[in-house]
Amino acid sequence: MARTSPNIIITGTPGVGKTSHCELLAERTGLKHLSVNDIVKTSECHEGWDEEYQSWIVDEDKLLDAMEPMVQEGGCIIDWHACDLFPKSWIDLVVVLRVDSTTLYDRLSARKYPEIKLQENLDSEIMEVLLQEARDSYEPEIVVELQSNSAEEMDTNIDRIESWLKQWKENNAEEGEEES
Ligand code: ADP
Repeated sequence: MARTSPNIIITGTPGVGKTSHCELLAERTGLKHLSVNDIVKTSECHEGWDEEYQSWIVDEDKLLDAMEPMVQEGGCIIDWHACDLFPKSWIDLVVVLRVDSTTLYDRLSARKYPEIKLQENLDSEIMEVLLQEARDSYEPEIVVELQSNSAEEMDTNIDRIESWLKQWKENNAEEGEEES
């Protein structure tokens, strides 16, 4: 069944501003914020806790099973630092947030990340790992790279995504009418 509202992934290295963007976007648009972190914890989609990295070891099959009924209806904003696990058919837009290294260093230090995790995430951001993952996993026209260094950039990003959403709804309403 065609979705009447799109599913959006907001992805990027930890600390780029995914949750901040998702919360603001959900507030402005009424779309549902799906924090994959929370789903992993509450639906127990993991194989235990990694002490060194201070994070859950995700069971991707269980996670996809838990998410499928939520995503099927559409209107979800998926908040996660990976995107290649989600089937293409689920996703209408992939937003990859980016930040400068110094900004990311400050944000992750404030979170008291273990040194190994902090360094890996900084390297990942510099090497554009998430951007590449998004481009490898989805059609290039649905992948958008946006900067998230400041509150002004976040506002601009939210405005852009809101405009995209409006356009998506118009396009899909037209298609629905043509079919009927
Ligand atoms: P993520 O979900 O990607 O790990 P968060 O949304 O939790 O990132 O943001 C990490 C920190 O950076 C938070 O303290 C948040 O307030 C701040 N932050 C996020 N995006 C921005 C931005 N565009 N401008 C200023 N601060 C930001």
